[in-house]
Amino acid sequence: MTVFRQGPGARNVAAMSDNPFFSPSTLEYELPPFAEIREEHYRPAFERGMADQLAETAAIAANSEPPTFDNTVVALERSGAVLRRVSAVFFNQDSSDTTPGVQELDAEISPLLAAHADAIHLDAALFARLDTLHEARHGLGLDPESLRLLERRHTAFVRAGARLDADGQRRLREINAELAADSAAFRRNTHAASLAGAVAVDSADALDGLPGAAVAAAAENARALGQDGRWVLSLKNFSNQTELASLTDRSLRERLLTASLRRGLDTNGPLAAKMAALRAERAALLGHPTHASYVVADETAGTAGAVSAMLGRLVAPAVANAEREAADLAAAAAADGIDELAAHDWAFYAEKVRAERYEVDTAALRPYFELERVLRDGVFFAAGLAYGLSFTERPDLTAYHPDARVFEVFDADGSALGLFIGDFHARESKRGGAWMNELVAQSRLLGTRPVVVNNLNIAHPAPGEPALLSWDEVRTLFHEFGHALHGLFSDVEYPSFAGTEVPRDFVEFPSQVNEMWMTRPEVLANYARHHESGEPLDPAVVRRMLAAENYGQGFRTVEYLSAALLDWAWHSRTAADPLVEDAEAFEARALAEAGIAVAAVPPRYRTGYFNHVFSNGYSAGYYAYIWSEVLDAETVEWFGTGGRGVRESGQLFRERLLSRGGSRDALECVRDVLGRGPEIGPLLARRGLE
Ligand SMILES: [Zn+2]
Repeated sequence: MTVFRQGPGARNVAAMSDNPFFSPSTLEYELPPFAEIREEHYRPAFERGMADQLAETAAIAANSEPPTFDNTVVALERSGAVLRRVSAVFFNQDSSDTTPGVQELDAEISPLLAAHADAIHLDAALFARLDTLHEARHGLGLDPESLRLLERRHTAFVRAGARLDADGQRRLREINAELAADSAAFRRNTHAASLAGAVAVDSADALDGLPGAAVAAAAENARALGQDGRWVLSLKNFSNQTELASLTDRSLRERLLTASLRRGLDTNGPLAAKMAALRAERAALLGHPTHASYVVADETAGTAGAVSAMLGRLVAPAVANAEREAADLAAAAAADGIDELAAHDWAFYAEKVRAERYEVDTAALRPYFELERVLRDGVFFAAGLAYGLSFTERPDLTAYHPDARVFEVFDADGSALGLFIGDFHARESKRGGAWMNELVAQSRLLGTRPVVVNNLNIAHPAPGEPALLSWDEVRTLFHEFGHALHGLFSDVEYPSFAGTEVPRDFVEFPSQVNEMWMTRPEVLANYARHHESGEPLDPAVVRRMLAAENYGQGFRTVEYLSAALLDWAWHSRTAADPLVEDAEAFEARALAEAGIAVAAVPPRYRTGYFNHVFSNGYSAGYYAYIWSEVLDAETVEWFGTGGRGVRESGQLFRERLLSRGGSRDALECVRDVLGRGPEIGPLLARRGLE
């Protein structure tokens, strides 16, 4: 039962008795009742949610009737309603609008949730019922989605240790609880180190080269931190800070990049080493030589060897490209008296060379990419072209923060599809990066329709000014909306298969495909307009911009591959390998051994802030981005060709792939769309790696 803790006042006690998570939301689309939710509701809701689900699963296991698909698999699928509701809202807040109280609860609750999952997966009576059904599965007369649910559930239990003996299960529980606590600590450390690593300067002159809006944002940052009269460059979650492209002060560039690269090393370095060792031990317990092997066995890649081969094949041509680029940049830097091109010079001279070679000044493009216009006349417009969708903002529906805006999404026939929440701006309480969340997952079984969230980190404009985006931020907006579409189009029976519940090395595919719209001429012409004059971006500039699109692929590919290989190295360790004592030395050695140590191109993430793999479920999975890109490159070539218009292509893509979520094998869906299996050619061409 729930433990009611005495709050600081009677108001809190009253709130506990009608915790908004205890019953389904009565709002449209079961949107969580954010206006009523307060921090003190979380703990009792987690406690009750876990207790309820354990009671439900115990009842399934103790059922005196012989196991049937309905009384076992479907019953499991329905279980845990309170936990589902509170988890969706809590973890959304932890990433989008965290507080010390939420972080504290995260640290406390994460190990309990891991133990809760273990209690279900390691329940022998429950597994025996699943196992019986699984043995008999082809004779049960199940439809394809139900058969797949039974198989996936069974696999999940086995992978979670259901077949281990008592000693093995005991050790597994310990490891899982410890890893859950470590992940939460890693998240906290990254957040703290990123804030602490912000670079402050005492005069605006030091920021020479930065666009005016960025200088204003730096002044605003300083004010928010109580440092009036200074300018603060806060760290974005990846290595190469965007300001490096324009700051003319070389020593400030160095300071900024060093702060970025070194953050978290002291706290998260040892933690990462410990987590890698625990993951290796767990993999061994579960019959795999490495954590990478364990993870990939359940992905579309199938084997660690397939991933190693794919990454390995890309390294040499990518490094050769980056070295060619480096030679050009070094020549440009030499003209400024710099004899050795350093990592903190790369973006700055890349921008110069790009501007000379293609006559493209990316900073000058910002006035043409105003957030509101890019969203409505770009992202939403493209969703209209391809899928017939339309959008209505619903200011009457309250989200979890004043910045988070709610839109109702309508299908081509005018019927309501779901809610899309856009939370586009950066704030101190939000973690770095961009991501999609689901507050409510679609399921016919549960009668739910999707409520999805996109989070970005676009700097708040100065009061009264519009938010003007960079080319990369425009891309991110389209990318995240691709994930949103995957959630919104979900049309499955079971919640376990909703939307983005697909293999990790597949989930980036729909979002990457959606990026294609940003440069499709009919879309670009519709959204790229000057925010004051409404003038469209000059078609000649567009042509040059598109020509320059592929410039810098060497850098981008090496930056990405080195992060992927770093993740891979951490998770290719065996249980017999000694604990890594020095994370920094391990990194250097791993990159050198992979043949990708390009001094002037640091990995996109270093260990100290690699949240993807040490806290967000992408361990041994960062390779997934380029793995998905193989499918993406092919699909972009397919879309709107072969005698099909974009609307017809969109419909096919939606019906055969996006709407299926995890209810069907991912690669079967791809074959159903493309008419054949994926090939790597278009990716190699796109990245200049042939
Ligand atoms: Zn993504």
